[in-house]
Amino acid sequence: MLPRICSTLVAILGPLFVMGGEAAAADRPNVIIFLVDDMGPLDTSVPFMVDAAGQPERYPLNDFYRTPAMEQLAARGIRFSTFYAMSVCSPTRTSLLTGQNAARHRVTQWIRSEGNNRGPFGPPDWRWEGVQDAAVTLPGVLRGAGYRTIFVGKAHFGPIGEPSEWPDNLGFDVNIGGCSWGQPGSYYGEDGYGAIRGNKRRTVPHLEKYHGTDTFLSEALTLEAEAAIDAAVAAGEPFFLDLSHYAVHAPFQSDPRFADHYADSGRSQQAQAYATLIEGMDRSLGEILEHLESLGIADETLIFFLGDNGSDAPLGPAHGHTSSFPLRGKKGTHYEGGMRVPFIAAWAEPNPDQPCQQRLPIAAGAIQQQPGTVMDIYPTILNLAGIEPPANHPIDGVDLAPQLAGRTNPRRRDRFLMHFPHDHRSSYFTVFRDGDWKLIYHYRPDRSDADGEGARYELFNLGSDPFEKHDLAAEEPMELRRLAGEMTAALAAEQALFPVDKAGGEIRPVLP
Ligand code: CA
Repeated sequence: MLPRICSTLVAILGPLFVMGGEAAAADRPNVIIFLVDDMGPLDTSVPFMVDAAGQPERYPLNDFYRTPAMEQLAARGIRFSTFYAMSVCSPTRTSLLTGQNAARHRVTQWIRSEGNNRGPFGPPDWRWEGVQDAAVTLPGVLRGAGYRTIFVGKAHFGPIGEPSEWPDNLGFDVNIGGCSWGQPGSYYGEDGYGAIRGNKRRTVPHLEKYHGTDTFLSEALTLEAEAAIDAAVAAGEPFFLDLSHYAVHAPFQSDPRFADHYADSGRSQQAQAYATLIEGMDRSLGEILEHLESLGIADETLIFFLGDNGSDAPLGPAHGHTSSFPLRGKKGTHYEGGMRVPFIAAWAEPNPDQPCQQRLPIAAGAIQQQPGTVMDIYPTILNLAGIEPPANHPIDGVDLAPQLAGRTNPRRRDRFLMHFPHDHRSSYFTVFRDGDWKLIYHYRPDRSDADGEGARYELFNLGSDPFEKHDLAAEEPMELRRLAGEMTAALAAEQALFPVDKAGGEIRPVLP
C-alpha cells in the first residue's frame, strides 16, 4: 500500500521532492543498520580476529561459513576486531535506539513478550516494558530531521500491550515484521512464518503475501526492505533503514538454497542449518548492495553491519571455547564470546568525490583494533547528519568518526561496562573492561546477603590472555581492587540497578 501512496504523491509533488532530495544528499546521507540476530564475530568467512601484528588471522570457523557479501562490504570499509554489544537481545537493541548503556536505560534483560522477565533476583524496577519515548530514539530524532525511518525484521523492543511492542511507536514511519517476538515462528514461507505451521504464537506479522510460497524469511524481509527503499527514493526523502534480520536466531531451520554447501562439512545437522541461516543473511546483504547500486544511491548510503550479542552457534558448551572459537563463551555469557560481535562500517560504494563521504571518510579494507560499542552508532549518525542530540538525554556512546577513518581516537577511554543483573547462561554479573584488563563481578544472589558476602570476582588480562584462560583475581590483588573501585564508580555514574537478595535487599558490589 505504501509504494502506491508514494507514487501518487510523487506524481503530484514530484519536482518539489526531487529538489529536496538533491539538496539533502550532501548532508543527509541514507543510513542502513544491518543487524543480525545472535551473530558472533567468528560466524563468517571474513576474519575479524587479528594476530600480534594487527593483521587479520583466520580460524577454522572462517573456513566453514560462506559470507561473500560481507567480504565485499569489508573490502569497501572498516571492520573492528573488538566491538561490544550486550550479552542478550533487547538490551543491545535499546542501546542502538538510545545511545545509552544498558545500565542506564535499564532494559537490562531480554524482554519476555508475555510479561516481566526479571528473574528471581533481578532488580524490581528494571525497565521490563521497554523504552517508550520516541522523542529520544534514533529513528525519532532522524524523523524529526526529515528522514523517512523504516523498520524491517525483528524488533523485540517491548512486551505485548506496551507502546514499545511496535516500532511505529518508537519513531519509525514504516514497520514490516517488527513486533514483540524475539524469534520467528518459522523461517519458511510454506509455514507462513508460523501462521500455517511451526510456533504459531511467534508468527512474523505483515508478510501474508509470501505465505505458502517458498520464500525464506530472510529473502522476504529483503524484498520488503527494497520496496521501502524504492518508496523513499521515489519520494525524494533520505532514509534510515533498520534491517534487523530474524536470522540467525533459533529455530535453526535449514535454508534449502544453501544446504548443499555444508552437507560434507562433517558438522551436525544443527550446525549446518545455522550455517545456511548465515549464508541467507549474507545473500540479503548482497542483494541490498546491488539494489542500492541499481538505484544510483550506493555512494550516498552508509551501512553499519553488526550482530546484537555473542554467537549462539550450536557448536558446544556455553562457557567453553566453541561457538566463537578461539574466543571463550557464547551468547548470554560474561566471556568475550558473549558480547563480542562483528562490526563493519562502509559506504555502500566508496567515492571520495561524494560530499557526504568527505564528511565521514571511511578507510577501505581496514581493521580497527581500538574497541567500539553498540552505543556509539547513535552519536555517530547524528554527528554525520549534523543533528543536535535531544536535550536532557545522556549518551554513553562515542562518535566513531576518527576510528572509521582508520585512526585511533586518543580521547576515547577504552572502557566497556556491561551490567546484567538477571539470570541467563551467565547470571547476575557485571563486566568492566579497562584497557587490557577485564574484571567480572558475580553477585551470586542465591548465596549472598545484602552485604555481598559470597560474591566472586574474575580478572583477565586480554592483552596477554585474549581467550580468558587464566583468572588472575588471586594473583593481582592491587589491580583487582583498583578495577573494582572503577567498576563501582561507573555503575553509580550510570545509575545502575542491582540484583536483590532473598529478602529483597539490594546487593551492591563489595570491594575485594
Ligand atoms: Ca540476539
